[in-house]
Amino acid sequence: MSIGKSSDVGLRYDRLRRSLARIGFVCKGSMIKRHMPCGRSGCRCVAGPSHWHGPYFQWTWKVKGKTVSVRLTAQQAKLMSGYVLNDRRLRRVVDEMRDLSLKVVQEKLKATVL
Ligand SMILES: [Zn+2]
Repeated sequence: MSIGKSSDVGLRYDRLRRSLARIGFVCKGSMIKRHMPCGRSGCRCVAGPSHWHGPYFQWTWKVKGKTVSVRLTAQQAKLMSGYVLNDRRLRRVVDEMRDLSLKVVQEKLKATVL
């Protein structure tokens, strides 16, 4: 690895490290927005999906393999969406840090072979 390249990796790594410090609350899972029929006969929703009730918002995640869901208001869903996106961003940044680290570490290991 040339000096130019390694300093580039260093800069990229620092940028990722700084972006981690700016990430807010992180929540696992995903957000679901859906419309549903209520099942009552004579209700307008019987006419089909375009007449279903909603939207209903749900935050869903897994705990030890089991799915957990929480129903949210539109306002709560907006808040949670930000936290769920933060979690994805966090994982993306960490993945990238691992990739960069691996490149650097492989070079370091090669350099220490006797
Ligand atoms: Zn209905």
